[in-house]
Amino acid sequence: MLSNREAKLQGLREAALRLRRNIWRALHAAGSGHMGGSLSAADLLAALYFHHLAIRPDQPDWPARDRFVLSKGHANAALAAVLAQSGFFDESLLDDFYGFESLLGMHPDIKAPGVEMSTGGLGHGLAVGIGMALGAQLQGRDFRTLVMLGDGELQEGSNWEAAMAAAHMGLANLTAIVDFNKIQQSGPVKAVLGLDPLADKWRAFGWEVREIDGHDIGAIVDAFDALPYAPDKPSLLIAHTVKGKGAGFAEDSHLWHVNAVTDEVYRNALDELGDAQ
Ligand SMILES: [Mg+2]
Repeated sequence: MLSNREAKLQGLREAALRLRRNIWRALHAAGSGHMGGSLSAADLLAALYFHHLAIRPDQPDWPARDRFVLSKGHANAALAAVLAQSGFFDESLLDDFYGFESLLGMHPDIKAPGVEMSTGGLGHGLAVGIGMALGAQLQGRDFRTLVMLGDGELQEGSNWEAAMAAAHMGLANLTAIVDFNKIQQSGPVKAVLGLDPLADKWRAFGWEVREIDGHDIGAIVDAFDALPYAPDKPSLLIAHTVKGKGAGFAEDSHLWHVNAVTDEVYRNALDELGDAQ
């Protein structure tokens, strides 16, 4: 018999597997899209939406809800899929991903229930997340704000201005998560504009930092449960991930940052996930 914890983790792993299938479903419907950074974030998003965030999918504007901002907005297939699985809208909407006047586009749009910020232009999410966290602090409210950043995105200087400001304001109700998959659109992050030593940089900017394997559901749950990491500082979670995780043909390759999704690609992807439809 499984322990309560193992049963919970198993449920989250199944949710993440379903999420990966739904990511491919959406991108196949569109014919193309950003699979690499959607798949790298899938385990983190499953743990956020099915374990950590206080949300009410039947009441998307519930004032006390936690706020989640997908700053790396090109991974909207993952956000749309997890919002659908959470019940913010029907999963069948994924079949209209990128469709004309669809709620679900290449990047998140606040028209879609559950989306807190329209993102896609990189380097903006953390600053807006600071506004949300500061608003909670000023109003004496206890909701939390979490912002997911891409590693390539961290090359935008606006992130570092925001990092400095969040620490200056002592925003312990703010968490940033870096989906550190080491690859960006044009190649390895190290080759384009390296980030090392990433954790030390954030610490120097006044954040409390933890690092985990971003595909280890147990480690992810523990890292979210431990928030905030310090009583008077913003928290940073560096999640080491694999771009394209779950599709061997797409893993660790910038060629699958964004690509076409033919019927054959879709079939191969589902096969690898153990679903030979
Ligand atoms: Mg990346």
